[in-house]
Amino acid sequence: MEWRLDKFLTQIPVGTRSQVKDMIKKGRVCVNGVHASKPELKVDPENDSITLDGKKLFYSQYAYYMLNKPAGVITATMDKKKETVLDLLDDKRKDLFPVGRLDIDTEGLLLITNDGELCHRLLSPKHHVDKCYFAKTDLPIPADAVKKFEEGIDLGDFTSMPAKLEIIGDCEAKVIVQEGKFHQVKRMFEAVGVTVVYLKRLSMGSLKLDETLAPGESRALTQEELECLK
Ligand code: URA
Repeated sequence: MEWRLDKFLTQIPVGTRSQVKDMIKKGRVCVNGVHASKPELKVDPENDSITLDGKKLFYSQYAYYMLNKPAGVITATMDKKKETVLDLLDDKRKDLFPVGRLDIDTEGLLLITNDGELCHRLLSPKHHVDKCYFAKTDLPIPADAVKKFEEGIDLGDFTSMPAKLEIIGDCEAKVIVQEGKFHQVKRMFEAVGVTVVYLKRLSMGSLKLDETLAPGESRALTQEELECLK
């Protein structure tokens, strides 16, 4: 398949459209050993050798990113008014989507990919994938909440599956759930008499939030992270 060189470079991704144009202009990109000076040059990534600063570039159909979602950004692919989690990525390919939802005020780990099969496996309750959250509450968490979370809580429209609650401070806890229903964690705390004032997802299955990522920053998953997750 033939691509424009600049499109190929943004899909890898090595940068945004304007960054990629600049790389080409500065002569940092070679195709089959020859400096490429035109962004519109047609390339065939399967047969052409494309290098950036002498390093060969490989294109993969699938992309996997972890984002440290900041508060104030919505978990959606697009929105007319609000910034979305996809706006925070440099990779601008159109088929990316977030795996599951975090509320607008929730922070932390969000996986973004274009791999539908992996997404389904991570979200399906059948597969029992643990999602771990750190929560701060307005009032001290009652000790009997641990048992209630474990037994499952009647939330009106459904009863939550057993969840593990670890109280780590008067108003702080870690909770592990295997479902991801709308406002689920907040509703579970509400049901035991406290309100969540801060929520952050720390992990999803084997994937842990890279704490070196500041809120709003993202990075591609490493090969090891991806293999453990699959
Ligand atoms: N549970 C919630 O209540 N909110 C989230 O964002 C994630 C889980």
